[in-house]
Amino acid sequence: MSSTKTISVIGCGYVGLTTATVLASCGYKVYAVEKDPKRLSVLKSGKSFFYEPGIDELIAKGLDNKNLIITDDLESSVAKSDIMFSCVGTPDNPDGSSDLTYVFGVAEQASKVLKPKTIFVQKSTVPVGTGQKVKAIFAKNNCRSAYVSNPEFLREGSAIHDTLFPDRIVVGGKSSADNEAVIEIYKSVIANHNSVAKIANITPLDTATKTNYISTTLASAELIKVTANAFLALKISFANSIAKLADKANANAVDVLEAVGADKRIGNDFLKAGRGYGGGCFPKDVSGLIHSAHEYGVNLEIMKSATAVNESMPEYIVAKALESLGKPLNGRPVVVLGLAFKAGTSDTRRSPAITIANLLVSKGAKVKTYDPQASQESKEDLDQKIVIESSLSSALKNTKVIFVATDWDEFVEMDLREAQKLSKAELFVDCMNRFDSKVVGANNFKYVGVGQ
Ligand code: NAD
Repeated sequence: MSSTKTISVIGCGYVGLTTATVLASCGYKVYAVEKDPKRLSVLKSGKSFFYEPGIDELIAKGLDNKNLIITDDLESSVAKSDIMFSCVGTPDNPDGSSDLTYVFGVAEQASKVLKPKTIFVQKSTVPVGTGQKVKAIFAKNNCRSAYVSNPEFLREGSAIHDTLFPDRIVVGGKSSADNEAVIEIYKSVIANHNSVAKIANITPLDTATKTNYISTTLASAELIKVTANAFLALKISFANSIAKLADKANANAVDVLEAVGADKRIGNDFLKAGRGYGGGCFPKDVSGLIHSAHEYGVNLEIMKSATAVNESMPEYIVAKALESLGKPLNGRPVVVLGLAFKAGTSDTRRSPAITIANLLVSKGAKVKTYDPQASQESKEDLDQKIVIESSLSSALKNTKVIFVATDWDEFVEMDLREAQKLSKAELFVDCMNRFDSKVVGANNFKYVGVGQ
């Protein structure tokens, strides 16, 4: 695997580091540019600063064969590149709009040094219309490089897998030749996917998936990404609305949603009730979409409702658990299992699991918690009264209520008889509907699910 192309990747978070390490493993010479000194020094030591299966193996390989160069020097990296990927963060402003400071910052810096033939590829999730503003920066700096939107769809926890086996690649630019040049890079990644998966030590989940290459306009590519995330968020909030009704009507939301999703036109993915979505993407992508639609004079009421339903779920679950317990939590020991916003990642940004843990403290519970990967990351957002345990068994010891707030395999597969022996808990709150209520009940716990 060797290629003559030189690529720079700006921003080494979940998206950038995955992109850079995979491209380096495919033989490209890759400058991975990160400006945060703490992150940079961890990366230079040959490790990732976040948990992601396979990423450490790819960093080691890239550093070893010298295809991966980790640096904070954006200008000289970009000046040497045939193509550049911008993967910086796009957090939300307090009003919900997208904060594009980093996006415009990279555009400003890069456009002063880009070679005319180098393509600037935007992988960050940005509101529709951002590309035109970036192009205005290019024009101001007399930069003639092409600008292409290429939104990223990877999921944390399977980021390497998703990059090697994508279901679609979306590229939107002014000329189809520029789009094709970007698509060529992805075709080479896909041609190498098995050997890179081997280096990363990951098992391909679905090798049958054929990648769709979608070449479109700049504005459409920008809108595809935020629309996809908004629709998934909508599906989750729809499932949660039906779960609330099922609770009242004595129906079982798991059965209902499974049967509804069995219709091929609807599908089961993301049609699941639980404690709602979190993370560094869905909440801010939805609020960014609502905000940018408003700027175009469009009221996306449907997404405002989805947000409200999502934000209500932690409180809804805690209230349901308290009702089932039948007594106040005053000083009672409670354990919250899971802090990451989803299983398979150490990312705790906007994690509903953390909201649940903090809510329980506010209701008077003595809360302890355990997460296989995300303890460190959660510290800043967790109430200081919460005790972070270092193992599942120490977390379970002597507690009144168990909340499974993130569905790590370690929790879903735990020995419930052993959990009952250790905890002597009365109540088992299945915040993501991952347990069989009968099995939980057979182990002397009272079961509480979402919509069941
Ligand atoms: P992140 O915050 O984890 O990483 C961004 C990195 O960029 C940070 O380490 C930051 O220090 C660095 N950075 C910022 N400005 C820089 C500059 N001028 N030079 C060098 N480095 C710079 O973000 P992320 O989760 O990787 O997401 C990046 C983008 O991709 C966002 O727009 C996000 O919405 C989108 N996205 C994320 C995911 C995901 O699962 N995390 C999936 C798809 C799309």
